[in-house]
Amino acid sequence: MTSAWQSFAAELSRWRDCGRVANFWWRDDDATRPTAELSRLTALSVQAQVPLGLAVIPDGADPAIFADLGPGIEVLQHGVDHRNRAAAGEKTSEFPASESPDALLRRIATGRERLQALAGARLLPVLVPPWNRFPVALVPLLAGLGFRGYSTFASRESEYPANGLRQVNTHVDPIAWKRGRGFIGEERALALAIEHLAARRTGAADVTEPTGWLTHHAVHDEALWSFLERLFEETRDRAGARWLRPAEVFLADDTTMTRQDRTDL
Ligand SMILES: [Zn+2]
Repeated sequence: MTSAWQSFAAELSRWRDCGRVANFWWRDDDATRPTAELSRLTALSVQAQVPLGLAVIPDGADPAIFADLGPGIEVLQHGVDHRNRAAAGEKTSEFPASESPDALLRRIATGRERLQALAGARLLPVLVPPWNRFPVALVPLLAGLGFRGYSTFASRESEYPANGLRQVNTHVDPIAWKRGRGFIGEERALALAIEHLAARRTGAADVTEPTGWLTHHAVHDEALWSFLERLFEETRDRAGARWLRPAEVFLADDTTMTRQDRTDL
């Protein structure tokens, strides 16, 4: 075992030793049509028995992608059309400050209806804004549209940004977006995971927020696919680690999901 994997295993052991379970969840973004990469992704989830939150872009989503999703795969809403509407100088966003709240919410509701018709019971009422960006002031209004979950990137500030709306983010992005979109390497990826786990364990981050792994199947290189396989092997049956289903992550009763994790630090 290389030292990065040893360090990762050591962090999981620290969780186990204090009687807690390091829980993880997996979100993959940008599904829209059937591709070899999407098939590889869903097959990996089934084979590794690791549940997957598949964030699908409603506009233009091909009904075929919902045809044979594995048992542990649930669908999340990834924006509406994933089109960048940011003004010059503004950060990339489908939902820039310039769009009126009414128009924005209407678009989201329409996207949700479309996705609901396609994905049926697999769709969870969870919004994943493209580029992980959404106007903060409008987040509470998502609850009024029927959303119960919301997911971006980095440690959350609050579990409930609005009544009934639980935020659970992702924390490890293994792709070097600005350097050729390759895998960042197992050492760096595991270091990011250890960083979040240690922050949770020591109280520097919310201990009850599961550590989220964010992938983008369309751009994975072989090294990243191999890394994910190994990650699942190393964590799946290990005492001290557990992969949550997206429905557990976003919808489970608070006390059910986190009972184990709310013990004193
Ligand atoms: Zn995206």
